Order: sequence, then C-alpha cells, then structure tokens
Amino acid sequence: MMAWKSKSSRTTPLPPDWYRRRAIVLKRDGHRCMHIREDTGQRCTERATDVDHIGEPDDHRIHMLQSLCSWHHRQKTGSQGGRQVRKKRVRPSHPGLIPE
Ligand SMILES: [Zn+2]
Repeated sequence: MMAWKSKSSRTTPLPPDWYRRRAIVLKRDGHRCMHIREDTGQRCTERATDVDHIGEPDDHRIHMLQSLCSWHHRQKTGSQGGRQVRKKRVRPSHPGLIPE
C-alpha cells in the first residue's frame, strides 16, 4: 500500500528517495508525533506514522521534515490544500460607528 501517493492533491512530487528520508525522520523523532498542542503546550503522544513537511512542500531536507501521527498529518494537509476548513474571515463590524 502506497498510501501517501494515492488520491493526493499534492502538486509537488516526492523525491525518489522519499521512503528513505521518511524512515530517517521517523527514527530521529523516535516514531512519535511532533505536534505540539497549542492549548496545553504538550506534545502529542500518538505514534507517528507519517512524515510532514515543516516548510515548503518541495523542501525535502531532513531537518525540514517532522514526524506526525496520521491524524495530525491529515489535519495539517487538510488545511494546506485548497479546501480550508478553519478559515476565519475577519469582517469589520459596524464600520459606520465611529464617534465624532
Ligand atoms: Zn499527533
């Protein structure tokens, strides 16, 4: 199963040695998800199964990759690709209410 390749909206192709890089990153991170929870500052305790690009999607350098559990990886890639779920539109309310 090449799950990371299937039906992906990713436009940047992974390098030929991606599998090797992925293994290196997972080993470096101890197969633990590197995601830090924003609310608690604690690191996710899930086992990492995926490797994620920290910076640009075409930056495949080892130090620009991090291990993530599948859930957090899905969260992140879900918000990067076209469909943004948590997009907040800041709309000024009552622009006319400026006291003189
Ligand atoms: Zn996680």
